[in-house]
Amino acid sequence: MQLVIFGPPGVGKGTLSDMLANKYRIPHISTGDIFRNEIKSGNSELIEYVEKGLLVPDMVVNKVVENALKQESCRNGFILDGYPRTTDQAEFLENVLWKLKKKVDLVLNLVASDEEIVKRLTARRNCGKCGAAYNLITMKPKKKDVCDKCGNALVMRKDDEPETVRKRIQVYNEETAPLVDYYKKKKILFDIDASPRPKEVFNSVIKAVEREIPEPQ
Ligand SMILES: [Zn+2]
Repeated sequence: MQLVIFGPPGVGKGTLSDMLANKYRIPHISTGDIFRNEIKSGNSELIEYVEKGLLVPDMVVNKVVENALKQESCRNGFILDGYPRTTDQAEFLENVLWKLKKKVDLVLNLVASDEEIVKRLTARRNCGKCGAAYNLITMKPKKKDVCDKCGNALVMRKDDEPETVRKRIQVYNEETAPLVDYYKKKKILFDIDASPRPKEVFNSVIKAVEREIPEPQ
């Protein structure tokens, strides 16, 4: 089963993807993770773009994703997170899958109000030293503003300040709108309310998957 997952920053895409990967025994493919790994293993093309702070062109991104999808681990499917980002990439993906005699079965579009996302992201804290992640709503440190693991001070990422979060949501919405239309026309996009707890969101996704893909492999 080939799933694509969309959702603004902070909506819980990573958690949900991992839960789905577990249930259906398919890999969670995050392009963010792939890029980090490629860079670590010395993909010079990627490194150059990243070092210069340039947007990685479709051609380069596509090639990286194509290689990932051709791996044996994706034989029974995958959950793709962070790709496609443009309709050109969506068409490329369709082409790659077609060659593998596959298709995107379902696009899960995680939806939450801007306010909910701002609330969640501005509650994130990280340890300035060891990097441990906390959340003032869902995963509080034992002692206020102090890391449970190493005792150093917790900090807020610049990215998570309210104004920046609002901008990130806006950029995300603008970027994704054409893709949402693209997959709506194909009748494989489903909006999933991401405001309840992760377990409930997971259950509504399972219902959609079982309804739309009657015989998951
Ligand atoms: Zn720490």
